[in-house]
Amino acid sequence: IEASSAKMYFHYYGQLLHQQNMLQDYVRTGTYYAAVIENRVDFLDRVVVDVGAGSGILSLFAAQAGAKHVYAVEASEMAEYARRLIEGNPYLSQRITVIKGKAEEVELPEKADILISEPMGTLLVNERMLESYVIARDRFLVPNGKMFPAVGRIHMAPFSDEYLYIEIASKALFWQQQNYFGVDLTPLYGSAFHGYFSQPVVDALDPRLLVAPAASHVIDFTSVKEEQLYEINIQLQFTASVGTRVHGLACWFDVLFNGSSVPRWLTTAPGAPTTHWYQLRCVLSQPIYVMAGQEITGRLQMIAHNAQSYTIYLTLSAKMWGPGAEQGGILQTSSGK
Ligand code: SAH
Repeated sequence: IEASSAKMYFHYYGQLLHQQNMLQDYVRTGTYYAAVIENRVDFLDRVVVDVGAGSGILSLFAAQAGAKHVYAVEASEMAEYARRLIEGNPYLSQRITVIKGKAEEVELPEKADILISEPMGTLLVNERMLESYVIARDRFLVPNGKMFPAVGRIHMAPFSDEYLYIEIASKALFWQQQNYFGVDLTPLYGSAFHGYFSQPVVDALDPRLLVAPAASHVIDFTSVKEEQLYEINIQLQFTASVGTRVHGLACWFDVLFNGSSVPRWLTTAPGAPTTHWYQLRCVLSQPIYVMAGQEITGRLQMIAHNAQSYTIYLTLSAKMWGPGAEQGGILQTSSGK
């Protein structure tokens, strides 16, 4: 399973269509461009490794910023296209070498002063490419070398969205038919209902749906160990800003380019210009009620479960007064691409 999933993963990135999709995310690519160009000093006369170069675009940016040499490491068939794209830009091409292979396996002739990469997936960690970025750090980067980006943060906040809840719940209504060609479908209603809620929702969400200030989890790419990315546990504690029904947890991320001249964040926050990552929401099949000022506690657990994705476990609960006391919502979901 591991091998075939990695094969599918690299097959996906081997297609120009999917590289185009990322290049057309102008918030993403434009922020990388600005971060590199505004921080020329970090690239000028330096050796750069582009981890997962794809079309080679970040290598070309680094060469534009005056890099001495850029090694563009790309495992998929896209490496061949990157070579052609780079050759077609002769002012930059003498200073870029495309190397086809995995960051975990290729050998480079020299150490890098700076790594550049775009390893972020849904919820930051999905696709598990951060692990490759960290391995590349340990294999190629000089001590105290720079990483672009250097830090990632996962942000989380409870949300209320009655319409989304009803939309998901109503998909399972099909299974409430008691006479489907003479067959009672209701025995499977419960499984269908929970099945729909186990699928996270990826879309652009209105920040007005958030019902508490966000919490954050920081991952320092310069020091995190690969194993620390296998299982990520985040204790959650929020204070509800309003009395409402909480339908789940909204998540997004940002990354920091800690440039010597101008530090810059690439954010995928709700309300900020939309990126191809959008935001991700885990929706509880049993929403919880909260009062203004009330504490919402819980846990978000992400467990890497195959070559490219994570299983997400979410619990959220709020203490209510009166009979019934504690109510909790539990969700198990799998992070999709
Ligand atoms: N840097 C490009 C592409 C980003 S997408 C851009 O910013 O537009 C991530 C790329 O990394 C994909 O092309 C994928 O094939 C490649 N990749 C993922 N894991 C890799 C690994 N372990 N070694 C080499 N390349 C990898």
